[in-house]
Amino acid sequence: MDNIVRRIGILTSGGDAPGMNAAIRAAVRNCLQHNITPIGIHRGYNGLIQGDTFEMDARSVNNLSERGGTILYTARCKEFTTPEGVQQAVRTCKYAGIDGVIAIGGDGTFRGAQKLSAAGVNTVGVPATIDNDIGCSHYTIGFDTAANTAIQCIDKLSDTMQSHERASVVEVMGRHAGHLAVYVGLAVGATAILVPEFPVDFERDVIERIRQGKYRGKRHFLIIVAEGVGRCDEIARRIEEETGIDARVSILGHIQRGGAPSGRDRTMAARMGHTAVEELALGHTNLVVCYRDSHIVTIPIDEALAMKKGLDPYMYKVAYDISI
Ligand code: ATP
Repeated sequence: MDNIVRRIGILTSGGDAPGMNAAIRAAVRNCLQHNITPIGIHRGYNGLIQGDTFEMDARSVNNLSERGGTILYTARCKEFTTPEGVQQAVRTCKYAGIDGVIAIGGDGTFRGAQKLSAAGVNTVGVPATIDNDIGCSHYTIGFDTAANTAIQCIDKLSDTMQSHERASVVEVMGRHAGHLAVYVGLAVGATAILVPEFPVDFERDVIERIRQGKYRGKRHFLIIVAEGVGRCDEIARRIEEETGIDARVSILGHIQRGGAPSGRDRTMAARMGHTAVEELALGHTNLVVCYRDSHIVTIPIDEALAMKKGLDPYMYKVAYDISI
């Protein structure tokens, strides 16, 4: 057996993120530069288990950088978390002649990539999640677009809320991580930002800040809440009860996942997708492509999964200090 890489499979898994398509495009085009046939895999690890794969070519990814979502579809796949599921995926790779896989997604996707690697299929992960909560990488594909979408929505909301001198309680995505909430909160001038990582004293950090703001002549109050913190209607009810200010809830929801990727997401996805192919073409495996200190680097998946990324307390402090 030679060590030449002939066919690389590409899949997107977990929650979708704007820029996944740009990463697919980069991977496909760089495969072709190496005379490697790119193989699309549908619906994450499901496609590997079910043999739902197809050959791609340069034109199949035309005009893809600017499209949100993922043309390969994405899904969770419980079966792949079992040894039988992994073995079935390995069989598909054998039959389809796939000798390398690029898995684009979050840390769950990388756990799957680790299993595939251990089972003998060379695999490289690319971080894509709007939450930006992957410890090994300072940036994840999709974050910038999602943040800008949330900011644009909140700007519109602020116009009408200001006219009526109301408070807005806005829920942004982030079940376990507040990166999006803090970034967006700082950008929109939130009065308070509630995230799972930093517990707040509601009286002191929300109610009292609104009262002080009102005293200083502030007429509109934005409270940004990460999804994982709790019920926004409950937060709004307390604000109304304790301050007398009409408080309305807006849940931005899945709109944050869609739309044309920003320039940052397109270029980051292009660099990461390209790098994944470079590594697989060299016969490397069990790696995650990361963005660290302004460079694209790769880290072994085992190490990558053990790395943690906390919220930037300084960014949080800046948001509080300047929204008086
Ligand atoms: P998001 O950031 O959107 O949650 P994610 O990649 O972390 O993305 P998960 O649902 O955690 O999303 O994982 C995606 C898929 O990866 C799972 O549905 C499963 O197929 C696979 N996966 C996750 N954990 C494991 C594991 N321990 N072993 C094998 N496969 C796994």
